[in-house]
Amino acid sequence: MNTQAFQTPIEYLKGVGTARAEVLKKDLGIYKYEDLLRYFPFKYIDRTRFYKIKDINPELPHVQLIVRLTHKEILGEKYTKRLIVHALDDTGVMELAWFQGIKWAEKNLVIGKAYIIFGKPGMFNGKAQMAHPEIEPYSPGAVKRMGNLTLQPGYNSTEKLKTFSLDSKGLQKLVAILLEQYLRDIHENLPQYIIQKFKLLNRADAYRHIHFPENAALLYEAQHRLKFEELFLIQLRLLKNKLLRTQKFKGAVFNNVGESFNTFYTQKIPFPLTNAQKRVLKEIRHDTQRGVQMNRLLQGDVGSGKTVVALMSMLLAIDNGFQTCLMAPTEILATQHYISIQALLGEDFLEVALLTGSVKKKNRKVIHENLENGKLKILIGTHALIEDAVQFKNLGFVVIDEQHRFGVEQRAKLWRKNVIPPHVLVMTATPIPRTLAMTLYGDLDVSVIDELPAGRKPIETLHYYESQRLQMFGFIKREIALGRQIYIVYPLIQESEKLDLKNLMDGFEVISREFPLPQYRVSIVHGKLSASDKELEMQRFVKGETQIMVATTVIEVGVNVPNASVMIIENAERFGLSQLHQLRGRVGRGAEQSYCILMSGQKLSREGKVRLDTMVRTNNGFEISEIDLQLRGPGNIEGTQQSGVLDLKLADLATDQELLLQARKVVEEIFENDPQLALPQNQILHHAFASKTGGLSWDKIS
Ligand code: ADP
Ligand code: MG
Repeated sequence: MNTQAFQTPIEYLKGVGTARAEVLKKDLGIYKYEDLLRYFPFKYIDRTRFYKIKDINPELPHVQLIVRLTHKEILGEKYTKRLIVHALDDTGVMELAWFQGIKWAEKNLVIGKAYIIFGKPGMFNGKAQMAHPEIEPYSPGAVKRMGNLTLQPGYNSTEKLKTFSLDSKGLQKLVAILLEQYLRDIHENLPQYIIQKFKLLNRADAYRHIHFPENAALLYEAQHRLKFEELFLIQLRLLKNKLLRTQKFKGAVFNNVGESFNTFYTQKIPFPLTNAQKRVLKEIRHDTQRGVQMNRLLQGDVGSGKTVVALMSMLLAIDNGFQTCLMAPTEILATQHYISIQALLGEDFLEVALLTGSVKKKNRKVIHENLENGKLKILIGTHALIEDAVQFKNLGFVVIDEQHRFGVEQRAKLWRKNVIPPHVLVMTATPIPRTLAMTLYGDLDVSVIDELPAGRKPIETLHYYESQRLQMFGFIKREIALGRQIYIVYPLIQESEKLDLKNLMDGFEVISREFPLPQYRVSIVHGKLSASDKELEMQRFVKGETQIMVATTVIEVGVNVPNASVMIIENAERFGLSQLHQLRGRVGRGAEQSYCILMSGQKLSREGKVRLDTMVRTNNGFEISEIDLQLRGPGNIEGTQQSGVLDLKLADLATDQELLLQARKVVEEIFENDPQLALPQNQILHHAFASKTGGLSWDKIS
């Protein structure tokens, strides 16, 4: 809200007072008028029609009827004491029951008179019954009023609040008081031209109708308007940050496409680029010519060929006189990048160095020197890259692989390695839905490789129940006989590390018995091993010394063993979709047909079944991430947990994607035409930054 009125402490509202205010604060987080205004109904009850007694049954939601009271009686003693009022209409008879407020009901209800009753129908001793109905004397006027008030808001309340008469009805009364007094103080916060363009309800009306909708159409419009506002303000903030950053940080300009890039493209690259790869390269090329620092997120499924795109961008930087580096989250990954990039570049072309924690002091010194004098153009490594000792002569382009393992501070450290911060390309193989990316990384640009190189054999995924375990063992044996390697992965159950380890060890024992030495050799890797033991064990598998790798999810990220063509996932129903997809991505990297077998217990929850079926049906990471979003809601998608950005009150990133795209587009247009928000029609938007609220706590977002 942009007026002072809504900052008033809630105790000052008529009908609240200190005692109720305490509970409102404690139970519902309602401190100020604004909080109450934004305490939205969680449901609406339809009062458009009147039911007949013969038509009601316990299956129905709250319904209303017109009935005449015939007689009343008090039954039971003390705790079982209740007032039963018998009623009828022209189709049948029913009972109304009061267990509390008996005195009031007995005194006020008049036998022989007609009443409008409203409540949840039930059945007792074979008779239609309604306990504690809302009840008021019948009159044509009352019926008409009901007709106007077709949708009744329902507010969540608590036991404590109810003892203060603040049940749903009581809360509704407070909201009514608030709106009556302060409706005029709800000011518009969106520019008129946007309201017109999208035919939005004005803000005051939206608040009115979301609490007291005159009809279903207006309720929809009210929700629509407020959701739009919510998403719009987030995008406004994110894009404003981005704009500030581009104004603050100049970026190196890559004007030349020179020898390194061209030699690689015409002589070295062993395959044609996919269209998606070309498109992303163009996007990066465009970014790096604008004189503005690039911050780009590159999403692409496992195996979609992100590395070569990164490499070619690095070559572009080199052609313009800059150094480059690529940072990976683990030593294994860094080493793999080092090997594959060396292989792509070939001999006698460009020198590449690898810097990790285990590089010997002597070699390290040489690397440091060559970075400082500018001879070394491509550095690949782990966190070791961001140590202060590592100084570049002229770092211009940074690639970060598997983004969610690195924090923001680490990214910032890389920025500071040059006076003009280098361009940054963040690569991730965890696809997230576009709308989520837009909200989470709204201030990054997002590129997507949504196409696999031609000729890939899609991984075949099977779902086996526990009863098919022997079949699974047989399958493994056949694949090993063909010379392939196998992963067997066990879930982490976060509650208990001990149990996890036991699970894994039990599994390992079973496997070792089923696949005995000397014919078979089995590796095991888990979180309790020291880093060097882990590394050693991984290396044995990478080198092909062992045929089976039993592991927890530590192998999830990026490991590349092309000869491993089977991924077995135990207790697959315990994994989230995105994690299953990540794990599956460990295979399918070589020329052979690869398989993923999902093992599960006989009993599956509905959601678990959907997850496994989805995995069997598709290999497309984006499709999977969309389903994940629908199943779990945005708050549970990997990497989003700590993000305040997702504290949306009304909008839902899973179902309101269209609206988000609209809001995003409008905000983009606004900043394009009026980056300072200086035009008269955009003045109103400054409030969004000036006030702390406007429905959002800005400090959570950045
Ligand atoms: P990821 O996106 O998972 O990092 P990589 O960059 O490791 O994928 O690429 C996976 C494999 O596909 C590598 O062996 C790479 O050389 C190969 N590759 C990349 N692009 C293409 C392409 N356009 N055509 C054929 N193979 C490609
Ligand atoms: Mg990769």
